[in-house]
Order: sequence, then structure tokens, then C-alpha cells
Amino acid sequence: MSTPRFLTVVLDVDSTLSAVEGIDWLAERRGGETASFVRRLTADAMSGRQALQDVYELRLERIAPALEDVRALSDAYRANVASGADTAIARLRRSGVRVIAISGGLRQAIMPLCRALSFVDEDVFAVNLQWDAKGRYAGFDRASPLVSQDGKAAVLRCLVLPRPILAVGDGSTDLAMKAGAAADTFAAYTEFVNRPLVAAAADHVLTSFDELLTFVLPPLE
Ligand SMILES: [Mg+2]
Repeated sequence: MSTPRFLTVVLDVDSTLSAVEGIDWLAERRGGETASFVRRLTADAMSGRQALQDVYELRLERIAPALEDVRALSDAYRANVASGADTAIARLRRSGVRVIAISGGLRQAIMPLCRALSFVDEDVFAVNLQWDAKGRYAGFDRASPLVSQDGKAAVLRCLVLPRPILAVGDGSTDLAMKAGAAADTFAAYTEFVNRPLVAAAADHVLTSFDELLTFVLPPLE
């Protein structure tokens, strides 16, 4: 077996581990102007035109996702998992690579997908949503660093993980892990969305989990 190039791989979830962009998906369920309003804000944030903290609350308050919406979203994440992700993650782990997920998405929505990919709960970082006793939207964890532009970098810096660390994702908040030196290398993941500003600043571009596997575990000559 070859030696891994990286000892830790940090994966984004939305538009990386799954084709789904969760907040946009929830907005689509609302339809009409909510969908286009939220889609525009997400695109601005992920391409780096607007800071995440400036759009996070705006998007969620507009959608006000109920518990049943988030359950439906969790099914969508699983139904749209990136092909080859399961195999690639399992092989990385068997080779001794630590694989964690850091997401600016909603924890309750992404956890079923992450568990299906054998992540333990402690290795998944995301934003908690809150509901009232009837399952109506009651807010989100405003104290989470992950609602801000540099939140992924801040979370990663707090973890003691084996280096070198590879961060993989489609968005500007993923790129910020490298810019903040929390990760050693950043790979833009472009299978589902290619954001030119992010890809241009990346050390590497990956279009599939098969490519990720080969990048981290080069085949033996
Ligand atoms: Mg993403």
C-alpha cells in the first residue's frame, strides 16, 4: 500500500459529499421568490462575493425550515451522495487517514448522510437548528463559528489533527481553511459546482472522489 500524501482529509458536505446545496434545497421547497432570493445569496457567499455571516441569518429567517423540512432534506443528501464517496472514504480510513467533515450546513440534516459514511458524531462539525415543541423553526446556533466566513478555519485550528491536512470543498469558506493556514493544501471540488474564483485559488482541482482517492493515496508504480 502506498503512503498517504495527507494524514487528515477535511471534507465539505454541500455540493461536495452530496450534490445537494442544503439551504438552497430548503428554499426551493418554499418556491417563488424565496428560492431565487436564497439561491443568489448562497452563490454570492460561496464564490466569495459576500461574507457568509452576512447571508446566514437572512437565508434561514426567510426559509424558517420546520423539522419536517429538515428530515426531507436529510433524505435528499443521502439520495444524492457523490458517487464513489463511500468507497474512497473507507479506503482512506483503512490507510490510516483521518477523515472529518466540516460544514456550514445544518447538523440535523447532514448527520444521517455522515453516519451512513461511517463518520462518528464527534467528527462532524455543522450548525445546529432549533425548533419548538411543534417542530416549527425557532432559530439556529448563532454562537457557532461555522456561520461565518472564516469559521471552518477556526474550527479546524482548534482540532489537533495529524498533518499534513488536505481540505476539500467547492466554496470560499473551504478555501479559507488554507488561507488561514489551518489546512496545508486546498483542493477545489468541482463535480457539482465549479466556482471559478475558488478553483483559481486552489492548489489542486478534483472532479470526483475517485480522483480524491488517487490524489491522497497515489497508486504504486
Ligand atoms: Mg459546499
